[in-house]
Amino acid sequence: MGECPVCAAEIELAKDAMVSEIVVCEDCGAELEIVGLDPVKLDEAPSTEEDWGQ
Ligand SMILES: [Zn+2]
Repeated sequence: MGECPVCAAEIELAKDAMVSEIVVCEDCGAELEIVGLDPVKLDEAPSTEEDWGQ
């Protein structure tokens, strides 16, 4: 279980979720990238055509 960084809703991850996978918050619709699994950490996914650095 992760937490949406946008609206703080709880996000249920698939059992086989992997880092860098994109999940969508069902509460606010934000696209979130899984950046960590232990503990679960979610970050807002970069929107299309936006360079968010390396
Ligand atoms: Zn959300």
